[in-house]
Amino acid sequence: MNFNKTLFFIVFLLLGPKLKAQTFRLKRPVPENVQVYGNYLYGEERFWDANNAHRGIDMLISYDTVYSASNGTVAFVGYNPNNKTGGFEPNGFGNYIRIKSKWNNKDIYIYYAHLTKPIVSVNKNITQGEPIAISGNTGNSTGPHLHFEIRENTYLWNANRTRRNPELWFAKNGMGAIYGNVPNAPDNTRINISPDPKPRPPYTTFVWAETYKFSDPTISGDDIYNENYAIGDVKPGTYTITALNGNYKRIVTVKAGEVVNADATTLVERNQISEKFILLQNYPNPFNPTTTIQYTVPVAVKTLHATSQLVKLIVYDALGKKVASLVDKQQVPGNYKITFDAKELAGGVYFYQLLLNNIIETKKMILAK
Ligand SMILES: [Zn+2]
Repeated sequence: MNFNKTLFFIVFLLLGPKLKAQTFRLKRPVPENVQVYGNYLYGEERFWDANNAHRGIDMLISYDTVYSASNGTVAFVGYNPNNKTGGFEPNGFGNYIRIKSKWNNKDIYIYYAHLTKPIVSVNKNITQGEPIAISGNTGNSTGPHLHFEIRENTYLWNANRTRRNPELWFAKNGMGAIYGNVPNAPDNTRINISPDPKPRPPYTTFVWAETYKFSDPTISGDDIYNENYAIGDVKPGTYTITALNGNYKRIVTVKAGEVVNADATTLVERNQISEKFILLQNYPNPFNPTTTIQYTVPVAVKTLHATSQLVKLIVYDALGKKVASLVDKQQVPGNYKITFDAKELAGGVYFYQLLLNNIIETKKMILAK
């Protein structure tokens, strides 16, 4: 790879405004010593209803003060159980508060559920950090906790793709968060992270992540992050994230207060991925009967998202007849190495061609038999 181009690209990645880590949008609604229950994540399969997902996060809190995470207006206070009042909240929130707020010029609705006692009333204007309730165990709850949920654009409980993962909206002081998108991952694919990213105390269990259960139509990634997994309350440091038996692997560095894209950061860490689609000369060449072909799938520079792209690597004989298809699948940006075995073919000149979107690169190789 051309060193100057690579260097330029690294500098671009480091300075490019799109890559700049995002920051948190809200303030943590409960005291700093309260943990998020790591075994019941946003987008995880709902333990009492396998067709749906957990649409918020749970914070283990024992009858303590809940503070507003945002500025806004109180839109609802009270019970609204089990479809008896028009079907707004058929999900056992118990005693809850809904606060209407704004983010990025959009309406967002923040839910504080299972409360013992709300201490604000409808239509009150709320300042971020203001006490609004005492948490509790009302509704469909197996122990005292705060269920915190964010909906965007509408508060209707069954509206499509309205939920957002609160773990990317706030954190404990001094912590960051990581998000990413594992291409083609089934819902609820386990995401491992090492070393252990969580501050202890207050966390007591090891925390991993899962890709979201998008088969629940209310679940969504973020407007900006477009993630399918997230890890919140991450201690500053460098982490390795893996999924799908290591087929997805990212190395990411997080600082306090940052929300970091694992897929983009990896590009800096690896510092090998080009902005250009590169097909290298095979080696050895001439060959008999195997040779290695290397190529690079570039990052989409406009978004800096390491989204997968359809890649094809095809071998043709000298007459243009297709003799082998070596790659035909979605691949994330990165460097790839393919072994071509030509033991069934006659000696002579062959061409290998790489296709990605509307880019085509072709090179010649010689099978010497
Ligand atoms: Zn919950």
